[in-house]
Amino acid sequence: MTLTKKGQAKPAPASWGLSASGKLPWEYASAPEATDHISLRPEYGLFIGNQFGPSRPRAWFDVINPATEETLARVARASKADVNRAVATARDAYQSTWSRLPGSERAKYLYRIARIIQERSREFAVVETLNSGKPIKESRDVDVPLAAAHFFYYAGWADKLDYAFPNREPRSLGVAAQVIPWNFPLLMLAWKIAPALAAGNTVVLKPASTTPLTAYLFADVVLQADLPPGAVNIITGPGEIGMELVSHPDVNKVAFTGSTAVGKMIARAVAGSHKKLTLELGGKAANIVFDDAPLDQAIEGIINGIYFNQGEVCCAGSRLFVQESVFDPLLDKLKNRLGTMRVGDPLDKNTDVGAINSAAQLAKITELVESGVAEGAEIFQPECQLPDRGFFFRPTLFTGVSQSHRIAQEEIFGPVLSVLTFRTPEEAIEKANNTPYGLSAGVWTEKGSRIFKMVSAMRAGVVWANTFNRFDPTSPFGGYKESGYGREGGLHGLAAYLDLSPNGTNGR
Ligand code: NDP
Repeated sequence: MTLTKKGQAKPAPASWGLSASGKLPWEYASAPEATDHISLRPEYGLFIGNQFGPSRPRAWFDVINPATEETLARVARASKADVNRAVATARDAYQSTWSRLPGSERAKYLYRIARIIQERSREFAVVETLNSGKPIKESRDVDVPLAAAHFFYYAGWADKLDYAFPNREPRSLGVAAQVIPWNFPLLMLAWKIAPALAAGNTVVLKPASTTPLTAYLFADVVLQADLPPGAVNIITGPGEIGMELVSHPDVNKVAFTGSTAVGKMIARAVAGSHKKLTLELGGKAANIVFDDAPLDQAIEGIINGIYFNQGEVCCAGSRLFVQESVFDPLLDKLKNRLGTMRVGDPLDKNTDVGAINSAAQLAKITELVESGVAEGAEIFQPECQLPDRGFFFRPTLFTGVSQSHRIAQEEIFGPVLSVLTFRTPEEAIEKANNTPYGLSAGVWTEKGSRIFKMVSAMRAGVVWANTFNRFDPTSPFGGYKESGYGREGGLHGLAAYLDLSPNGTNGR
């Protein structure tokens, strides 16, 4: 439904083919992705030293499909003893094999992993979608190809570390403890494991408890690629097991992606130790549209910026700043575009917005949206039928948002856009930077000089110009302020897994 500023229904332009209610006058035929080529095991043990095995003592927890709430498998719940076992195994592998291999040999393993991910890409895409709720077209076209690309990219550096860091004598660190979130389970695994292995480290990785299945599928790839036992270890368990892992005294490097609250706890736990630390935390990105921007192109960038992966993206463009003179036409176009989005079965190739990852995340989104309404912002949601089961939320936008509203300040991590306005570039910069976060931002304008001015003034690790949510393994990614520190991707991401200090004491 399209509303005027006074809240009255307003017909959408005929060119969009929408009815007066904002609905498409026809339905898409369903186009479900086949699932008969995958077979999930009923249970997955911990992956330590190239063997799957139960936790000690034996304990399990269920993993569900957030789109149907059905159980997909059960996975082992690691204990503190399992963490010790995994770290000791990684240490043995580091000392006996992995750190001793020439870079050219490590590269061969990484290339092999990359190729196997490509060969098994349909399997990875389906399992990722079943377990995370993200649309199959995103797992198929973004997550899996990018994960393979990260292994290819870092394979290329493994035997060229001296060229990557000239006059620095790059040395591996030892055992890397890596804790990853549920929004990009396979991709975050690749961001963490590929540079660690390329640099000569071994790894213990803990996936998020809601999304461990592609990590265990990756363990199969490790076996298929014939990696030396212990180079990659994967353990599952609750947050406290993540804390045991990053606090373990025999770990040399900690890499975490997740909430700012947990990131701060990890920073405290690691403080004063020798461990190198990379934190990739939350965000509240500003996406700024100037009046000279190509509006139709900007609309696609705004949609991709906030509704990609249900908005469960740390760098999502969740605050839209629109120059006042184009507010009305832009909002009309945006609301019409929202009316064309398909929400529902993540396995359907037409689906744009899939399932929210968990009941807890859905409750958090709902609470923040309710706060937006209570604080006086005006909500807009297209009419669309949500599935009866599973965790779904309509794509939502708010107008009449003020800087002090919670929906303008807090990370919602859902398909919810807060729209604000500005008059001058200075005001846009001031408002965009008025956040505790500093991960990403976007600028839409035809003027090159304005792009440069905005990019240098915005306190964000990544600023996209006339596009949004573009990722590439060669490009470093990371934040300022409460969005964390350290960079992943590119040479910066490789340096985070190396000791580049003159005396060789960093991370040891
Ligand atoms: P968390 O930060 O709790 O989870 C991320 C990872 O950290 C998971 O593997 C989790 O394990 C683990 N973890 C949880 N607690 C601890 C701990 N005390 N010590 C070590 N590791 C821990 O995020 P949530 O899943 O709770 O999501 C909450 C909010 O965080 C979201 O709404 C969103 O705003 C933000 N977030 C940001 C992400 C980003 O990409 N920057 C990603 C995910 C969330 P387990 O799954 O077992 O709890």
